[in-house]
Amino acid sequence: MSNLRLTLGFALALGMLAAQPAPATMQAPALRPGEGFAITLGDGEVRAYGEAGKEAPMGSLAKLVWMRLEGAEWSGRGVRYTCKGTAGTFTCWNREGHGRVDVGKALRESCNLAFLAWIQDAQTHWRKDYGEAAARARMEDVFAPFLGRRLPQGETLPPLTPAWVGDGDLLRTSPEAFLRWLMEPDKAEVVTFGKRFLASFWVEVQDLFGKEGWWFKTGTAPVPGDPTATSAWVAGGRGSALVVLHLPRGRGKQEGMTRIREILGLKD
Ligand SMILES: [Zn+2]
Repeated sequence: MSNLRLTLGFALALGMLAAQPAPATMQAPALRPGEGFAITLGDGEVRAYGEAGKEAPMGSLAKLVWMRLEGAEWSGRGVRYTCKGTAGTFTCWNREGHGRVDVGKALRESCNLAFLAWIQDAQTHWRKDYGEAAARARMEDVFAPFLGRRLPQGETLPPLTPAWVGDGDLLRTSPEAFLRWLMEPDKAEVVTFGKRFLASFWVEVQDLFGKEGWWFKTGTAPVPGDPTATSAWVAGGRGSALVVLHLPRGRGKQEGMTRIREILGLKD
């Protein structure tokens, strides 16, 4: 059976699941070695395939964690930033600069400098509003699922570095863990931001989820032990369905989007 037919079989199985109680078995998506994929159809059940439980640096998915912390504040204030590619000691992955960005564009294009600037500003406010130790506790609380024991103990805010927006391997997750995080009721706002800022016009080959478009946040992350390689993340959803995909190699925007579209059977 070809990959396409397997994929369509999976998409059809999803369609049936959306319409009726989940059957005990469903056809698994056709994954390649090293890929991990987790999906929920909004029924509270998580289906995990391939390396869905394997932890890896989370790359730009970290920006969705920041949206949980500060997204309402930033979009409410209509923050803007002009990315010129470098700022002080920081460099954006896009050395040419992203130009003028708002929250939506910074999220879509994963502008590290915009996020770092807004985070720095937010932290100044936290210190003033409730003090250093409470600010630290707040940040630790939200990032705990992704930190393990890698953050040195302390009472002060950790130094702001690109690691907090997805560089390096301080922050890690697995497809299943990130999906479960997105499913938590207090993350509903993150999903709403995804729908608002990251929605596409893609629909299924067979339109199974209704009229709403899919939204996707892509991410590119380092591969521990291989400085020349990157791995790809895609997190997204449609309606109450949510998906998270990790590829062991590749760049989120290109390889990640190609694979998630194949797996879900999406067309333009
Ligand atoms: Zn930028």
